[in-house]
Amino acid sequence: MKTSKGFGTRAVHAGVRPDPATGAVMTPIYQTSTYAQEAPGKHKGYEYARTQNPTRQALEASVAALENGTHGIAFGSGMAAMDALVRLLQPGDEVLACNDLYGGSYRLLTRVYGPLGIRSRFVDMAGTPDIEALIRPETRMIWIETPTNPLLRITDIAAVCRLARQHGILTVVDNTFASPYLQQPLELGADLVTHSATKYLGGHSDTVLGVVATRSDELAERIRFLQNAAGAVPGPHDCFLVLRGIKTLHLRMERACNNAARIAQWLAHHPRVATVHYPGLDSHPQHALAARQMRRFGAMVSFDLVDDNLDAAMQVLQRTRLFTLAESLGGVESLIGHPASMTHASIPRQERLRAGLTDTLIRLSVGVEDADDLIADLEAALGH
Ligand SMILES: *Cc1c(COP(=O)(O)O)cnc(C)c1O
Repeated sequence: MKTSKGFGTRAVHAGVRPDPATGAVMTPIYQTSTYAQEAPGKHKGYEYARTQNPTRQALEASVAALENGTHGIAFGSGMAAMDALVRLLQPGDEVLACNDLYGGSYRLLTRVYGPLGIRSRFVDMAGTPDIEALIRPETRMIWIETPTNPLLRITDIAAVCRLARQHGILTVVDNTFASPYLQQPLELGADLVTHSATKYLGGHSDTVLGVVATRSDELAERIRFLQNAAGAVPGPHDCFLVLRGIKTLHLRMERACNNAARIAQWLAHHPRVATVHYPGLDSHPQHALAARQMRRFGAMVSFDLVDDNLDAAMQVLQRTRLFTLAESLGGVESLIGHPASMTHASIPRQERLRAGLTDTLIRLSVGVEDADDLIADLEAALGH
């Protein structure tokens, strides 16, 4: 499928073709572990399902097309995808990462790879960071999350990737929060883009899966080797669910972005709200950068309360009815969460506070319900 087609067309069609055996319009779930061979070594390109599965291949082709890449590689979770990317490095190498990244990513870098000799340094990458001043000779990978989680800070992907390339440093963008509909890191010069497809790509909170996309044949070959050799592959049913989710990604994102923009505006005027973090607000420090780099501003919103105490935040979190108190994000239903005790609990408190993540920060994953109902729910929970 030519990537010159519009995003919605690619979301519906890329990677998918009627099943050659039956004509089934929807990609079947090839629930098999192995494939019959006509003679030893004579087969249809499928030998063993850790190595090749047609449902997974359809998903991988779809993700590659959505990210304007040439290769898509799927894993059993977003963390498994990240794990494969960090394995591209050697002991002694350093990962330079943003300092308010996903808690699980922080944990993988510090607790799994730190003891193996791959060090990580966490720095403020909001805006256009001075990469020349931040890198060291051992820096081999720059890990960007933008918008960040949960403070919705924006990093200038093109500027970071340009300088990293000059120094031979690999750049990875965790594009989970934006989704490929809103942001295309490969177009901006990133070597690798990764997603927790558990979130917007799947979109229905019913599966866990991870993907990587790239334009580099060399990197794709190394990552595919790791996919098969380490074996953290997704099952075909999960691939099917994400493929189905992708078909409506553009529709869901439009609606969720509309809802989030209205909610962020409304929160910004609420007397109990101190700060609203949303890249679409004029008050956001990287608003102009977000407008340049993203199609729209996303559907994640976070905010602090004026009465800066944990009890006040806990009350709000327990009072919403439509917003479900839960970890995760990116589904059709709206969720509310408390990063300090939930998604980011694995980051030490001092480290959290240094990154600006307060104990009272509340994070919303805005879904595709009716905005009026969502605002009424927040109004009731916040009180006056
Ligand atoms: C959820 C998430 C991950 C991890 O993905 P899993 O599918 O849960 O393993 C990584 N990065 C970001 C930004 C996430 O939100």
